[in-house]
Amino acid sequence: MSSTQPTPSLLDELAAASARFETASPGEIVSWAIETYSSSLTYACSFQDIVLLDIAVKAAPDLEVIFLDTEAHFPETLAYVEDVRRRYDLNLVVTHPDPAENPVPCGESGCCQGRKVAPLMRAVAGKDAWLTSVKRVDAQTRGDAPIISWDDKFGLVKINPLATWTDEDVAYYEKANDLPIHPLIPQGYLSIGCAPTTRPVAPGEDPRAGRWADSDKTECGLHG
Ligand code: SF4
Repeated sequence: MSSTQPTPSLLDELAAASARFETASPGEIVSWAIETYSSSLTYACSFQDIVLLDIAVKAAPDLEVIFLDTEAHFPETLAYVEDVRRRYDLNLVVTHPDPAENPVPCGESGCCQGRKVAPLMRAVAGKDAWLTSVKRVDAQTRGDAPIISWDDKFGLVKINPLATWTDEDVAYYEKANDLPIHPLIPQGYLSIGCAPTTRPVAPGEDPRAGRWADSDKTECGLHG
């Protein structure tokens, strides 16, 4: 947990804004975030899809975008990140695990901590707010994700502009805007993490069933 603590009035303001944005479009939420937090806003992109990235970077081309390179990604993910970086001329920050705490990519809880959580903690230090692509339909654990909240773990405001979107909304936006699709999605990888702990899912199977399939782990620690 971060040592940064929000005031009660800030928590009230965030809750009110979150409620107000329940029926807003992601573009409206992103515009508010950019106006409110300016260069103290960052976006940690999973690069599973680039819907929010497209919305955010069209609104703020210099927005900082973070990619958590766990050093265990699929080669297809790294190629996709590079394609997207070039397409948008991204202000991309790539994090890496600390070699001193770099266990073999294994699926154990300390693995995500060292490869994702700790690097993100370092990357967002000094920032006031971060955007994420979390959707309520992603997983049961995300079913009540607010649009705007205080992120106690990372010590800044967390903004989920796609929280109310469905997978169909995402697919529609991708098609309407001719966005590049992660090359593993057509191969059945509907939720994409690191190569050692991600498998494709069968038609009709829960998309996140392919993540940490050999354990009861369901989140990497960034969002729960
Ligand atoms: S997703 Fe799997 S391999 Fe990647 S950091 Fe987390 S536990 Fe390790």
